[in-house]
Amino acid sequence: GLSEKLQETFKRLKGKGKLKEADVSEAMREVRVALLEADVNFKVVKDFVAKVKERSIGQEVLESLSPAQHVIKIVHEEMIELMGGATGKILIASKPPTVIMLIGLQGAGKTTHAAKLANMLKKQGKHPLLVACDIYRPAAIKQLQVLGDQLKVPVFSMGQDNPRDIAKASIVHANQNGQDVVIIDTAGRLHINEELMGELRDIKSSVKPHEILLVVDAMTGQDAVNVAESFHSDLGLDGVILTKLDGDTRGGAALSIKAVTGCTIKFVGIGEKMDAIEPFHPDRMASRILGMGDVLTLIEKAQESFDEKKAKEMEQKLRKQEFTLDDFLDQMQQMKKMGPLSSILEMIPGVGKQLKDVQIDEKDTAHIEAIIRSMTTEERRKPVLIKDSRKKRIAKGSGTSVQDVGRLLKQFEQMQKMMKQFSGGGMGMLGGGKKG
Ligand code: GDP
Ligand code: MG
Repeated sequence: GLSEKLQETFKRLKGKGKLKEADVSEAMREVRVALLEADVNFKVVKDFVAKVKERSIGQEVLESLSPAQHVIKIVHEEMIELMGGATGKILIASKPPTVIMLIGLQGAGKTTHAAKLANMLKKQGKHPLLVACDIYRPAAIKQLQVLGDQLKVPVFSMGQDNPRDIAKASIVHANQNGQDVVIIDTAGRLHINEELMGELRDIKSSVKPHEILLVVDAMTGQDAVNVAESFHSDLGLDGVILTKLDGDTRGGAALSIKAVTGCTIKFVGIGEKMDAIEPFHPDRMASRILGMGDVLTLIEKAQESFDEKKAKEMEQKLRKQEFTLDDFLDQMQQMKKMGPLSSILEMIPGVGKQLKDVQIDEKDTAHIEAIIRSMTTEERRKPVLIKDSRKKRIAKGSGTSVQDVGRLLKQFEQMQKMMKQFSGGGMGMLGGGKKG
């Protein structure tokens, strides 16, 4: 996949120490090929490589302490720029209901994502209504109803009536029943044609949606980008939902859509389950494309201080979310050699910002060590099992207070949550690993 190719390139670059212009050029040739193979739009690739190259052969990089790292940083920044501007939010209308219309080709994931969005918004305290405007197959209405039942979200349907009338009636229905978000699931076609566009324009003009979201399948690569371009020029899109990213090992669509069409990706679909939807974060996506992002840097840094086998184990555990208090203790000891713990944690994507909530005090490490050592093996593996009575014993055994024990457990839990967050969607995506 793309991640592996880029990592190869950067590894070679790192082997060079001080970079010459020719080294950068060679690396950029490789980046270019990797991106093209990943089905990134050729014009996007051309501009991207030119930008990175221009920045990379500047004095700044050639004279920096670790030029290769610097180049990687530039690639990362430019990737974020390429996909940037995403909010991952639905704009809620000042006067309800907020009307969202999902459009796209057949099989892209419209019905699934209409339901996922409803589920997400319901969790945020909204009262969504799903609307069945795919009138061509009775099975399509049924599919939406089944999902609605499963999520306990009402579904509005009027059989094979005109989609425009169904959409219009659904707004009235929502107003009468206190539904503040209306999500319209529309029919697709195998290919874009005038019949489809006409139908969608009709619905659009009858309900004036606040958000027209295009649903495209990431696995279709450049086709997804072309589809987005057509829909955008005909209907005007407010955003894109990029689906099936869990099965996409190339990343071409994610990297090209914004640059080619000007539309931002708002959400990504990462599986068939109803909670397999995430706001799109360009920085995280770039990190994923570059291979778990700064976690790699973290591991490299770790490798300098302790042996490679240990680092591999740690990586595996992070990835499999099997990180226990024992590992935590182990890491702490290793990391003492590596500099402040906070700077290590900061390298984990998404952790930096949340660090202030975790507050692992360097001076506390002795305390922490004592506390963990007072736990049983089972407790270290599954800290959630530790009851209040055990907390007292652990505090006593470690010469600390119950509050200290409680605080450590809380910190560890937060850390695990963050690890889950960054490793969660990242696995199937572009990593070539297991399905998310
Ligand atoms: P529609 O024709 O656009 O309404 O597409 P559907 O919502 O019916 O989805 C088509 C198929 O793609 C279904 O089997 C879905 O379960 C599957 N699907 C949708 N979104 C995703 C996703 O993000 N990941 C995966 N793996 N499958 C998905
Ligand atoms: Mg459908």
